[in-house]
Amino acid sequence: MTTPMMKQYLDIKARYPTEILLFRMGDFYETFYDDAKKISKILNITLTSRSKSKSGERIPLAGFPWHALDGYLARLVKAGCRIAICEQTEDPKTAIGIVKRDVIEVITPGTLVSGSALSERSSVLLCSAYSDGNTSGLVLCDISTGEITATALESKVLAVEIARMSPSELLVPEGTKMMPPQGCEITELERWKYDIDTAVQKIKEVLQLASLEGLGINKSHEATIALGALLYYLSDMKRSVLSHLSFRGMYFREDCLIIDKGSARALGLVEARSGEESAVLADITDRTMTPAGAREWRKRLSAPPRDPEVITSRYDAIDSLISIPSSMDDIRGILDNTADLQRQAGKLGTLRSAPRDLRAIADTLALLPELTENLNGLNGDILQTAGKMDTLAPLREYIDSMIVDSPPLKLSDGGVIRDGVSEELDELWEIKQGGRKWIKSREKNEREVTGIPNLTIGYNKVFGYHISVSKSHLDKVPEHYIRKQTLVNAERFITPELKEVEAKVLRAGEEIEKLEASLYSDIREEIAKQCDRISETGRVLAELDVICSLAYLAKEMGYVRPELSLKSSLKIKAGKHPVLDQILPQGECVPNDLMLDLTRRILLVTGPNMAGKSTYLRQTALLVIMAQAGSFVPAESMIFSPVDRIFTRIGSSDRITRGQSTFLVEMAEAASLLNASTSSSLAILDEVGRGTSTYDGLSLAWAMVEYLHNNAQHNPMVLFATHYHELTELGKLLPAVENVNVRVEETGNRVVFLYDVEDGCADDSYGIHVASMAGVPKQVVRRAKKVLADLEAGKHLMHDVTDCNQLELMIAETESDDEHPILDNLRKIDPNELTPKQALEILYELRDKLD
Ligand code: ADP
Ligand code: MG
Repeated sequence: MTTPMMKQYLDIKARYPTEILLFRMGDFYETFYDDAKKISKILNITLTSRSKSKSGERIPLAGFPWHALDGYLARLVKAGCRIAICEQTEDPKTAIGIVKRDVIEVITPGTLVSGSALSERSSVLLCSAYSDGNTSGLVLCDISTGEITATALESKVLAVEIARMSPSELLVPEGTKMMPPQGCEITELERWKYDIDTAVQKIKEVLQLASLEGLGINKSHEATIALGALLYYLSDMKRSVLSHLSFRGMYFREDCLIIDKGSARALGLVEARSGEESAVLADITDRTMTPAGAREWRKRLSAPPRDPEVITSRYDAIDSLISIPSSMDDIRGILDNTADLQRQAGKLGTLRSAPRDLRAIADTLALLPELTENLNGLNGDILQTAGKMDTLAPLREYIDSMIVDSPPLKLSDGGVIRDGVSEELDELWEIKQGGRKWIKSREKNEREVTGIPNLTIGYNKVFGYHISVSKSHLDKVPEHYIRKQTLVNAERFITPELKEVEAKVLRAGEEIEKLEASLYSDIREEIAKQCDRISETGRVLAELDVICSLAYLAKEMGYVRPELSLKSSLKIKAGKHPVLDQILPQGECVPNDLMLDLTRRILLVTGPNMAGKSTYLRQTALLVIMAQAGSFVPAESMIFSPVDRIFTRIGSSDRITRGQSTFLVEMAEAASLLNASTSSSLAILDEVGRGTSTYDGLSLAWAMVEYLHNNAQHNPMVLFATHYHELTELGKLLPAVENVNVRVEETGNRVVFLYDVEDGCADDSYGIHVASMAGVPKQVVRRAKKVLADLEAGKHLMHDVTDCNQLELMIAETESDDEHPILDNLRKIDPNELTPKQALEILYELRDKLD
């Protein structure tokens, strides 16, 4: 036998078997059974038990106060849990029997709308994918802002595209076999939800559309089905309205510079390379004033546009802002005070805006007229368009007329609705305040009547309003006072009159709370009708913020405006690594030139370890991405043609030690480059082949360069850093392959790194040189030089080692420790036996051996 409440719990729990059910009981959220065990571990809270069943079975139980929900939710979601929140759906005071309860929302990693689990400056994405043979549809939804986009693509690139988007949660049909991308939870949905008719109907219903014509999604069955499934999921998860969802149109991979996840990470674009704490481009170039702007900038850096017109219009806007610095400062100043309208629209759409949220919307809208006025004085399409943004003046007036200037944190604190909105409410306030006033004046009156100077009228939850009289004056207490409580120094009394007024005040208070709640809910719903428009204005503000941030950055750092070229080329004069430039002390980042075009398409970059090869490669990719994202760049000048895709193969040192599997990753990346690059692509190859044996690696690298050079289709611009000195031969053999090297200078016993790139190949013996500087014993250094020379002469090493003379020499070297073998040779010579010619010959020989 279970109690009625446990029966209610078990009924609801049966509907959410895979979720953790947070069961609201008064001021607490409770969990039972396995849920309790699980959350007590994750949240480190006490696991208790209660004997709720009559059979005496003890039920594990763990809970926390309702106001702690936000923080705990964040931790549960982070731990990968799905959480069903079950609330009391009727007032416990008026309920008959047990309070009705229902799950109002299920929270999953991809469906966070607000709260501390949601990072302000990055987006949380929920993805839905559906494949039918060779074609697939992918839908992306940021539930916190309500934005949905979709794309149709070839099934073979689906996984790559999903990884690029790095969603928090991915929806797929039941039974789909798929490796989840890092940090992504996979949720399987029933197959019947993946049906075109069902999908169309669901889309029309949730997005409130008569037809799908306008969305552009109807051209792709797969995307339509994926969207249908996503909306099914959301309407199951969120009981509250989802009126803020809006479809922002299809996007096409081809419209953007494609930077896959691995490349983005290797370049340190938005997140640091794994295991490194280094600064990333997104952070170091971010001068935005708002979280929405910061999110927009990260989005844009991850997928810069390819359309030269779009890119140019951004440059124009930046130029215009730089030319009138006072306007730029004003605009940024205003943006600084704006609320995150996109996320506010998200909260509105799910009906969870608190009074201060509505206030924040109105206060932000109030700033817009001044903002648009500032914009109208500026040139550039983007700024002009922003100047015509929807300022939603009527909405602002509406909110202003309904909500007080500084509302309390919680609706239940009271005093949210402005005077004059509801006559009934105003009257109730009068009663409440009148009653309070009466009580205040009563205190004075009672003191006079009774002659008790320190008599007070106070309030507490147990006795309500009461009169306190200190012990020393008890003799003066009138008869009609009713004693209620004795304290150490005083006694508390009530009077019928006091109780009467008290009842009136309390009743008014309760009524006020109820009436305010209902008025508030109406007002919020009214405002929620404008979700789309609020969100759209938020989007314009975010874009404006990004442009202003870029202008500010360009001015602050002295960046230049890149020039677009229609011919495949990339020319950078005195370019600097944008991140290094900011983290190194001023003047220490060495600028470099770069020249790539059709006649000089592949650069082989050589130089000793630590010379700056990898930096030069990354710098090139980062400058291209920045420029294409619409930013000015740290260089004296830059000419580029929009790139369709950046391929990278960048080994980080920790990966090299992981051996074979790394090599497989390396080759998979190489394969994608060789198969998918075009004449508009840029490839950054750093030490390809390092993960395998020298000869293997060298031959692969050699063959790849040849292929990229000779192939008419897969002919990207390439930067190839290599420690295989042999590869530089290719620079001489193939016309479009050139050798460049990162310069170092030898002064006496020191190698000085100049970080400067020049044409030609590097001297190949620096490695040995550096070894000698580092204190490697001389005979090892000498031996290394000999082996190197032999290798270069094409001699076989084994033969070399088994050579008796060499062996003897080696032994001699080991024994004589620091003595040069030539000394030994010298000892064997008897000068008296030699002709002058022989002596001269020996002298030449000895001189040769010294090197
Ligand atoms: P390599 O790949 O040739 O071994 P890296 O590119 O890793 O060398 O560079 C080694 C270090 O040299 C970097 O960590 C950086 O601190 C410094 N460095 C590289 N390029 C520059 C530059 N242009 N200006 C200043 N310092 C640089
Ligand atoms: Mg390197």
